Amino acid sequence: MPEEPLPDLRAAGVLKLRAGRVGSVLRRHPWIFAGAVESIEGDPPSGAIVQVVDESRAPLGLAAYSPASQIIARLWTYRAEEEFSLDQIRARVARAAELRGSLALRSDLDAYRLVNAESDLLPGIVVDRYRNFIVCQFLAAGAEFVRAAIVRALLELFPETRGVFERSDAPVREKEGLPARTGALAGEAPPEHVEIREGRCRYLVDIAAGHKTGFYLDQREGRAAVAELANEREVLNCFSYSGAFGIAAALGGAKAVANIDTSAAALDLARRHAALNGVAAERCEYIEADVFQLLRRFRDARRRFDLIVLDPPKFADSKGQVEGACRGYKDINLLALKILREGGRLVTFSCSGLVSTEMFQRAVAAAAADSGRFVQVLRRLAHGPDHPVSLHFPEGAYLKGFVLAVS
Ligand code: SAH
Repeated sequence: MPEEPLPDLRAAGVLKLRAGRVGSVLRRHPWIFAGAVESIEGDPPSGAIVQVVDESRAPLGLAAYSPASQIIARLWTYRAEEEFSLDQIRARVARAAELRGSLALRSDLDAYRLVNAESDLLPGIVVDRYRNFIVCQFLAAGAEFVRAAIVRALLELFPETRGVFERSDAPVREKEGLPARTGALAGEAPPEHVEIREGRCRYLVDIAAGHKTGFYLDQREGRAAVAELANEREVLNCFSYSGAFGIAAALGGAKAVANIDTSAAALDLARRHAALNGVAAERCEYIEADVFQLLRRFRDARRRFDLIVLDPPKFADSKGQVEGACRGYKDINLLALKILREGGRLVTFSCSGLVSTEMFQRAVAAAAADSGRFVQVLRRLAHGPDHPVSLHFPEGAYLKGFVLAVS
């Protein structure tokens, strides 16, 4: 495959901030919103580097220009004198990889996030590793601009890589004025499924067409928590996708596991996961249904469980949807609390970045109050250390969960 040309990282324009709008840059937040910009000088192409200056033209750093987006620029550097170069890109990827060192050394784990975008000083760039395949997402104009440099750095740092694949098909690309793009970037195209290991569990990852980059790597700690809780319990795995929580529960000793999802294809993969992990078919149930409706049916039919996992898709994509999202969280958590046996456990998540931990906790507390049950938080869950959150970028902390004891 011919290598794409490396990007020209010289400043192609100047972005001048309005008076009083430099605060976020000084706090090292990576995003500049269109409303904070006084003027753009020069004619920088999409994704190119612009010098960021304050209203008196004092330089503040270098950013990637994203003309189509409300987030009109993302900062690469925050110091006036700092250069931005291909060596820096490579150094940032290398640093991100080094940070995952302890995960990379685990002999029972071969899939994790290598680069977590803004939180690894590589805005819009996500890189996941599945055994000897690497998957990239370029989710912003600036990320798109440096794609060839990222691929080159990955191949240098991980010479054992069999293939690098692109999954830049997340909806956020539209906001950046970028078309969806998927396909092999280097080396071999991935097989239909790459088998990965996570502790005792094995999973099949559909790199070309699975959710996100193929798998919910952000839920590793959640799966470990569920495995610990599952022994001798009857488990209901809601919004199961390919049943990863269900496998963790089964290998943790669950008596039975029921997976619910609206996607028949996801449930088919869940069946294959059971076979791959040696989980007897009679311990598993696969229900193609809407969780909201099915939980009501279980409530009415008095069907009960000892452990319920609620890991729904993102309920809020914009601020206007946050209230409805919280009602949705209250609704499903209330239904789950109603069908849990005495002494049961509820493991409940929100991956809506716009819903804060406090808001989510309030929604679950409202459900607990309405259910008439006594509910305690045993543990809080989030993405693992391969999804670091930069303190300068709190938006990076989107996933939150609670392990609840219910009596
Ligand atoms: N828990 C999964 C990830 C969940 S992703 C894991 O750990 O791998 C969200 C899943 O919810 C998707 O598979 C989607 O098909 C499913 N889904 C979305 N809305 C649903 C609904 N109303 N009822 C059931 N499943 C739903």
